[in-house]
Amino acid sequence: MTSPTAVSPALLPTASVVPVPRAVALVGATGSIGTQTLQVVAAHPQRLRIAALAAASGWEAVCATAVRTGAEAVALADPGAARQARARLAGTGVRVLEGSDGVDAVAAWPTADITLAAPTGIAGLRPVAAALRAGKDVALANKESLVAGGRLITLLAARYAGRLLPVDSEHSGLFQCLAGREGTGIGRMWLTASGGPFRTWSAERMRAATPEDALRHPTWRMGPRVTVDSATLFNKGLEVIEAGWLFGVPVDAVRVVVHPQSIVHALVEFVDGSFLAQCARPDMRLPIAYALSHPERWAQPDLPLLDPTRLGRLDFEPPDLERFPCLGLAYAAARAGGLAPAALNAADEVAVRRFLAGDIGFADIPRVLEDALDHQGGGDDGELAVVLEADERARMRAAQWRPARLWRARTGPAPSPSQGEAVT
Ligand code: MG
Repeated sequence: MTSPTAVSPALLPTASVVPVPRAVALVGATGSIGTQTLQVVAAHPQRLRIAALAAASGWEAVCATAVRTGAEAVALADPGAARQARARLAGTGVRVLEGSDGVDAVAAWPTADITLAAPTGIAGLRPVAAALRAGKDVALANKESLVAGGRLITLLAARYAGRLLPVDSEHSGLFQCLAGREGTGIGRMWLTASGGPFRTWSAERMRAATPEDALRHPTWRMGPRVTVDSATLFNKGLEVIEAGWLFGVPVDAVRVVVHPQSIVHALVEFVDGSFLAQCARPDMRLPIAYALSHPERWAQPDLPLLDPTRLGRLDFEPPDLERFPCLGLAYAAARAGGLAPAALNAADEVAVRRFLAGDIGFADIPRVLEDALDHQGGGDDGELAVVLEADERARMRAAQWRPARLWRARTGPAPSPSQGEAVT
């Protein structure tokens, strides 16, 4: 039996009529979530249309998509790419915007009913804030904006009456279990984690893990950063912080359970000991569609169905915080509050990039995060500029972090002091 958790009703959408067709501003159109969102929109031509598109890369694909979907505008973060897009789209009537101002303008596009925010990393914070300031509902696939800017984003959502609809599969699962039950004896919220490719690996074997090993995710098809974050379980840590802000609950009311089959995505535990779980085949098109169709549900003929008679067994186990210290560090940052989660997220983005480049080892990732937590500064985490500054500071520090004892591990016994602290 657990004590009740007060769920903030402010962020939970109430039933409303979905305008048809619903116009979507898609930010992050060329990434994994962006391309799957385009598939969902294409599958529901009577219900959804693309109003505007923004992307950080892949201008040719964006141009082709804009023409195919009848988008009114595209924004490309890179001005050079925008110039090329302008030439390509001349005479089509599609407006081309550029830079982060252009991306923000697409996020806040006047004819859009909802903004699906799917950029990668901290780049999502500005457009999510811009969309909320324009009074848009935001289907949120960018967890970093809530992790780093949770206070800012929830303040803006409340001030401009924008709704935050989770696209992250676990949060969509919680959202579906919670619908209509806000404030009715909710205890804890459980996020499932597949456990990633190293679930059964020993700590010793994990230390020697290569980028190829870490990128081999057992159940989900995702971008490289989130795939490595799944291998360290840091992704689940980000999701714990995200759930805290999204549902207005303390992070300690959000728990993690490892579930390798990725069929159960989330569970809500009620104070009487009853649980509700959300189950589905692991396919991001389901949470994307739910965020865009809420409060309705639409049939998705393209999606493979779950057949309970063929499920066999479902396994659940506790996360191992010793082998996966990044999860514990995320809880620590959330409890510390303020700018700590922003610093942790920024350090992880850099650490993952350095790991993928072969610059640091897999076991160094939590060490970079720990260093970021130890050195994060103070400031008002409700201010966009302050959050972005904290992000930049942590990023620079993480880029300079050196694995002082890495070479020792590679070369055997510790050297004598006269050999100094030289690192390779
Ligand atoms: Mg997730």
